[in-house]
Amino acid sequence: MAASHNARCLRKLLRRNADIFTCPCRRDPVRYLTTTRNKHCANDIDINSKGPGVSSGNRLVNNPLPFKSFLPKASYPDLDTYDTEDVPYAPIQMHKETRKVYFETYGCQMNVNDTEIAMAILEKNGFVMTNDLTKADVLFMMTCSIREGAEQKIWKRLEYYKSLKKKRSSMKIGILGCMAENLKKEIIEKDKQVDIVCGPDAYKDLPRLLDVTSTGQAAVNVMLSFDETYADVMPVRVKKDSPSAFVSIMRGCDNMCTYCIVPFTRGRERSRPITSIVEEIQALSVQGLKEVTLLGQNVNSYIDKSESKYYGGFDTNSPTKNSSGFKTVYKPKMGGRRFSDLLDAVSRVNPEIRIRFTSPHPKDFPDEVLYMMKERPNICNQIHLPAQSGSTSVLKAMRRGYTRESYLELVHHIWDIIPDVSLSSDFIAGFCGETESDHEDTLSLMNIVQYHFAYMFPYSMRSKTHAHHKLQDDVPDEDKKRRHLEISTVFREGALKRNQAQIGQEQLVLVESVSKRSSDDMAGRNDGNTKVILSGAGADGHLKPGDYVVAEITSCSSQVLHAKPLYTSSILEFHQSHRSNHGNSQQKCTVTN
Ligand code: SF4
Repeated sequence: MAASHNARCLRKLLRRNADIFTCPCRRDPVRYLTTTRNKHCANDIDINSKGPGVSSGNRLVNNPLPFKSFLPKASYPDLDTYDTEDVPYAPIQMHKETRKVYFETYGCQMNVNDTEIAMAILEKNGFVMTNDLTKADVLFMMTCSIREGAEQKIWKRLEYYKSLKKKRSSMKIGILGCMAENLKKEIIEKDKQVDIVCGPDAYKDLPRLLDVTSTGQAAVNVMLSFDETYADVMPVRVKKDSPSAFVSIMRGCDNMCTYCIVPFTRGRERSRPITSIVEEIQALSVQGLKEVTLLGQNVNSYIDKSESKYYGGFDTNSPTKNSSGFKTVYKPKMGGRRFSDLLDAVSRVNPEIRIRFTSPHPKDFPDEVLYMMKERPNICNQIHLPAQSGSTSVLKAMRRGYTRESYLELVHHIWDIIPDVSLSSDFIAGFCGETESDHEDTLSLMNIVQYHFAYMFPYSMRSKTHAHHKLQDDVPDEDKKRRHLEISTVFREGALKRNQAQIGQEQLVLVESVSKRSSDDMAGRNDGNTKVILSGAGADGHLKPGDYVVAEITSCSSQVLHAKPLYTSSILEFHQSHRSNHGNSQQKCTVTN
């Protein structure tokens, strides 16, 4: 029954030329995708394809299996001849010479981690990485689609890549990541020089896609997966000298905020098993890493359902809990191990490794997460709490699932439990329907919270989003720009006050590198993730990246703290001496609503 249902769906898909992951019948998309996951790019299914990696006229070669392999066995008995375990990433041709790959990464930290994942996959398949663009055989851009400006940057850069290709026709150009997912057809059809388009869930297919391009064909795989987490890929670290690393713990987003392209470019939420995350952090600990940032589009919605014993447990069978006053567009999820369980496990790997996480959603901060942060000295007291707007009506149009009041209630609740917390946020200026009074609400919310850091952007409507279909991008550009400037100014004033309040404090700083401005100084970050310049620490060569140093804050700007290094220490030593002597008063919040 399910099989014929699938076949029927595929025929419909073919007629509609639709993406396979949006099964038109919507009856059983999960089961359907499970049978084909990560195995075949099924967009633009080519009925005439002759098999893995075989081109078909001028069509894009993006499905390694012929159409009949998607159909029930009863209809095509010879399907047995395919070994479905071996087919998905068909063995690539052996190349005599080693091919050099150059990566350029745009956008968020998730893209940095995705670059490391893609590099690990390619290295395993005989490619080597190069930092020299002119010597590369393959140029990859890990792209971002979050705003139109981000895409414009890529198109511009592509022009330069094309000029290089004119000089070396054997060179291949690949677009990876969100823009690949979002603009697959435009990239290949408009821009004949791009050889590979690969979405965020298809990096394991890169060696095969590269192989396909050796025949002069463009190769595409933009299939989204319901369960790809790259748990089995140990990323190659891009910044080898850095004491910090990113560890991806989940992918995708189920929230469907009306302005956001992410659910369409990165698909549904899925979490990586705790055991594989712990193993990766153990390996990083052995390498001497001192800081790990857990990454995900919606990091605190994490649910590990990989072990059946956590399905039916007394505690774990309860539904997910939202922060008080917060709603979701989806029903509560059941079972599995949650974000607080993950924080518990990863913070135990090595108490001298700092743990951070980004990017969370404010709805997923139940008390157990906040108390876990308070309890563990190596979980940084830093929370990114994206507000997006301070106006309840704009938040409703954005479908964020909370009001101004519930957001502020959460902020106060966090301050009560973790008084020295460092808060950061995201804001969008000029979303659809935003009035001057809504904008004033945002300014006043920023004045109340006084964030340590904020990302702020004028609204940029993205096609495919709910806002694009249902709302009007009706705030004039000049108003967006002005409001953006105003929120930036208010943010900087608040951040300066926050930083000034820290002057005279002793803080634990993780040394990261020599300061970019002066080789006499070293640069690092405090627990709240603010950059700290350690005066004179570079000149005597005493401190090195990866050291923890206790430093006295001497001056600041709205972005940076300047400090005098006092002595090297450790997380536990610092915690014992400073928390017990001074309580939690380091950056205690004095601002009230
Ligand atoms: S929570 Fe909203 S804004 Fe964040 S990635 Fe998901 S849909 Fe986008």
